Amino acid sequence: MAPEREHVDVLIVGAGLSGIGAAHHLQERCPGKSYTILEAREAIGGTWDLFRYPGIRSDSDMHTLGYRFRPWTDAQSIAPGSKILDYVRDTAREGGIDRHIRFRHRVVSAAWSSEEARWTVAAERTGTGETATLTCDFLFMNSGYYRYDQGYTPELPGLDRFGGEVVHPQHWPEDLDYAGKRVVVVGSGATAMTLVPAMAKDAAKVTMLQRSPTYVISMPGEDGLANRLRKHLPERVVYPIVRWKNVIAQGLFYRLSRRRPELVKKLLRRGAIKALPPGYDVDIHFKPRYNPWDQRVCLVPDADLFRVLGEGSAEIVTDRIASFGEDGIELESGQKLGADVVITATGLNLLFLGDVEITIDGAETDVPGALTYKGMMLSDFPNFAFTLGYTNASWTLKADLTSEYVCRLLNHMDAGGYRICTPRVGDAGVSEEPLLDFNSGYVLRALDHLPKQGSKEPWKLRQNYPVDLRMLRRGEIDDGTMKFSNPVPRSQSEAATQARASAS
Ligand SMILES: Cc1cc2nc3c(=O)[nH]c(=O)nc-3n(C[C@H](O)[C@H](O)[C@H](O)COP(=O)(O)OP(=O)(O)OC[C@H]3O[C@@H](n4cnc5c(N)ncnc54)[C@H](O)[C@@H]3O)c2cc1C
Repeated sequence: MAPEREHVDVLIVGAGLSGIGAAHHLQERCPGKSYTILEAREAIGGTWDLFRYPGIRSDSDMHTLGYRFRPWTDAQSIAPGSKILDYVRDTAREGGIDRHIRFRHRVVSAAWSSEEARWTVAAERTGTGETATLTCDFLFMNSGYYRYDQGYTPELPGLDRFGGEVVHPQHWPEDLDYAGKRVVVVGSGATAMTLVPAMAKDAAKVTMLQRSPTYVISMPGEDGLANRLRKHLPERVVYPIVRWKNVIAQGLFYRLSRRRPELVKKLLRRGAIKALPPGYDVDIHFKPRYNPWDQRVCLVPDADLFRVLGEGSAEIVTDRIASFGEDGIELESGQKLGADVVITATGLNLLFLGDVEITIDGAETDVPGALTYKGMMLSDFPNFAFTLGYTNASWTLKADLTSEYVCRLLNHMDAGGYRICTPRVGDAGVSEEPLLDFNSGYVLRALDHLPKQGSKEPWKLRQNYPVDLRMLRRGEIDDGTMKFSNPVPRSQSEAATQARASAS
């Protein structure tokens, strides 16, 4: 059978929060462009469809995790996963974006041809093993940042001896019955903090077993200002006000944490002491060795975690696992934790660019050797962009800006009659730095596979929404670093090569 080969102007990979947002921006700002979304799974929503554990919710506010173009209208600002999923699905349905999605298409390779000025993209049809091949002018990766098939589980000594059930939150069994059982949640990240209060409602007891503590801050689950303003003003007015209020508040908190870590440590400690019963050992369970925002500060809505600790339906144990036994866990301190169910809330496996094998003019590419341009393109990768959200603020703030910039770039190329755009470092004297200035385990495990950022603009990853907004929404597209060109027919390029060879 002849291979299927269609052409679209823009190919979006991934139908999660970012991919659906990207399609919306494209439809609105580049209405003449054709596009398709290839999605490996059978559903829209990515993260918000995949994760099904009890209590799954956002850990940043929906006024900044929501799209700029679509007000978040629910009273809950720290929202359950199901509402976020509905929001993404509704965006796709109302915009007719869902008609552009091909589900069960896992993109496995993308090959750029400078001669044709296009990508040839191969996608495996999951379940059938068939391959679909498409070509596109511009490849826009919205594939998230972690592996879907496998969560991260560290080596847990003797785990195979454990007689109860072991569950990773990324693969939650629909029928898991933990009512009246002793649950141990291993981990201290956002997922563990979400699971503990949610499971404490039905379990006999939930123990959060952490090797080391995390900074935790409580915030109201509902945004008082938003809900007050809504009584008097339309959503389209309320939303940007609350969004900016939150952008500024988060930005100030982040900057204060970096500049005055001791002060922020004190404030966080005071908050925990206030929310916990008198005498609770805050310095053992809530005092990390690192500074706030060296790793993500965990947000809990309405102090729910502190509440279940106070009530006694949950506890935190800060210790190391010596070994699992048939009915529980022995800790290095000698303490034994009885368990019927163990949840390994031990994290994600980072994955950049969806495991896609990328070649340029037949040559393998070196993603870890590339520099990120404006935090959304790669040096020497033509007609290629990706969405990577902030580590210190809501993902969608950056996702929206990234899509806006891609649309500006495409329109600029059309206006100038260019078919190729490539960020080039040239002799700008840029040195390499690690992509993420974050020492969480999941980041450190993956750094070698990630591209680098550069020491200065536009190669620097600012992790700062107002700065990015200026650069991506308003900055010059033709900034001297982005090189625009057109394909050169093979005969001409061969002649030029020969001429250069004979001249030298
Ligand atoms: C439990 C959890 C809670 C989170 N909470 C927050 C929060 O509160 N605030 C925040 O800012 N961030 C949060 N994040 C980060 C979160 O992932 C992002 O906010 C956002 O959902 C990312 O959207 P995305 O579309 O970029 O990626 P994803 O949601 O990961 O979606 C990517 C999509 O691409 C598809 N895909 C991947 N590779 C391929 C391929 N090769 N071919 C075809 N399709 C492919 C996937 O199947 C998936 O559907 C959370 C993450 C997790 C895991």
